[in-house]
Amino acid sequence: MQCPKCKSEDAVKPSVVHASGLSDIQFHSRGHAWALGDGGLLLGFGSTKAIGTSQTQLSKLAAPPRKKRYRYLILAWLIGFFMAEPLIDVFTASARNSDALLRQDFQTFAYVFSALVVLGLAIFWRFNHVIFPRRRDVWNRSFMCQRCGEVFHPPPGQ
Ligand SMILES: [Zn+2]
Repeated sequence: MQCPKCKSEDAVKPSVVHASGLSDIQFHSRGHAWALGDGGLLLGFGSTKAIGTSQTQLSKLAAPPRKKRYRYLILAWLIGFFMAEPLIDVFTASARNSDALLRQDFQTFAYVFSALVVLGLAIFWRFNHVIFPRRRDVWNRSFMCQRCGEVFHPPPGQ
């Protein structure tokens, strides 16, 4: 497939570019592991970080679109409640007779917070079921130039 920008014949599917970039990383990580054989846990972590950034620029550009993860929202939800509950307790302990009022505030907070999380889940769901398939489709049909990084769609009929 010829690149419309630089006219090189090096254009391939983004999935191919992405996969070759990833195999580079695996190769590097094996090299690090050998070199750091007795380097200890800390060095091990340090090298893992370096490996993460060694993914080729082209491979990063060619990464497939990703689905949104619901679990981060759920996690934020749980953390929100775990943080709020003790905070409310601290406030009720320092202020007299406002216990009932603060309980009410906490309830209001809980409702609003939950509504926001549900809204977030709805947005994620819409992304995963409407926008994501479309992006994956475009990604599947496109080609990427390995020389200049241009992403393009082959003209119809080819
Ligand atoms: Zn090109």
